[in-house]
Amino acid sequence: MPRPILATIHSDALRHNLSRTRAQVPNARVWAVVKANAYGHGIENVYDALRGADGFALLDIAEAQRLRQLGWRGPILLLEGAFELRDLEWCSRLDLWHTVHCAEQIDWLATHKTQVPHRVFLKLNSGMNRLGFKPDAYRSAWTRLNALPQVDEISLMTHFSDADGARGIAHQMAVFDAASTDLAGARTVSNSAAVLRHAPNAPTVAADWVRAGIALYGSAPDFPHGDAALWDLQPTMTLSAQLLALQHLAPGDTVGYGSTFVAPETMAIGVVSCGYADGYPRHANGALDAGTPVLVDGIRTRVVGRVSMDMLTVDLRPVVAARGALPAMGAEVVLWGRSASGAVLLIDEVAYASGTVAYELMCAIAPRVPVQVAAVDQP
Ligand SMILES: *Cc1c(COP(=O)(O)O)cnc(C)c1O
Repeated sequence: MPRPILATIHSDALRHNLSRTRAQVPNARVWAVVKANAYGHGIENVYDALRGADGFALLDIAEAQRLRQLGWRGPILLLEGAFELRDLEWCSRLDLWHTVHCAEQIDWLATHKTQVPHRVFLKLNSGMNRLGFKPDAYRSAWTRLNALPQVDEISLMTHFSDADGARGIAHQMAVFDAASTDLAGARTVSNSAAVLRHAPNAPTVAADWVRAGIALYGSAPDFPHGDAALWDLQPTMTLSAQLLALQHLAPGDTVGYGSTFVAPETMAIGVVSCGYADGYPRHANGALDAGTPVLVDGIRTRVVGRVSMDMLTVDLRPVVAARGALPAMGAEVVLWGRSASGAVLLIDEVAYASGTVAYELMCAIAPRVPVQVAAVDQP
């Protein structure tokens, strides 16, 4: 029998979240961002549910190739563009649209031999200071690109640093609007947080294309201020395991490496077939005194003791309190996502309790975890 751990991808939830994204910005086209192997879900596992998007955005040419092999003929955008001159060959061959964020990428284009001119997205650094041309260099970059026979349409792009937070996007929108006035081309500025929080009443923020990632995967980018219920998003990934063993503790007994948990009373703990080598955060249990939440048979409890490579341990007192009995060996443990009972544990809660974000947890699902796609959601 394979080790009892499983990641389940929920196709219905992906479809729901895509239509929620569209409803926020009904006049925009939607890039489904599937970088990092679809945020850890697997490009092949999300493709069917997300093919209703207008395009796919990612970073890796190998991932773009996989999308073409799956049969996607629509737009694919490389969010960081070419990493070297030879990448432009792949852009020609696979018909990829690509970001241009620096002068070297324009130099490469100028020497690239292609039958078909490329669609490019010229990136403005409007304050994030990662990729893009500074405002005073933006217009001349556009003019240079526009003169190249290798270039077809030029679209305009920037990225927000604080769409999910208090600082907001107004300062960057002002920079973008000023730098791009009079420049022809479709615009794309919004990530998920901007789509949810800022775009609905602002046509220039929704603009022509939005780039939605995390919202498609059911996480609220502004958790805990916003959450999946507020934004009407559904969890797209369940990580589930089982109880491998139960231990009965006397007061003063300790659990796991470093003996960090000390039983305050007679109690039982459950040993779960999931550890940090599966992608579960080792620092779970660190950030909040209440411990990182888990569901045992759909009942909410928490991690106690240190997370180890292949196992973690959970407090069974809440299960006994709810049920009047201990769970059985092999009982379902949901680390995040949906329980067979219908109970949901948001990945955002687990991330928050572990001092990280849902993005990191999704992307960190380890290769040893088997993945199954659930076409229809469990009741
Ligand atoms: C990853 C990424 C996105 C998507 O961000 P989310 O917060 O997941 O919506 C959008 N634009 C760019 C340039 C990105 O790199």
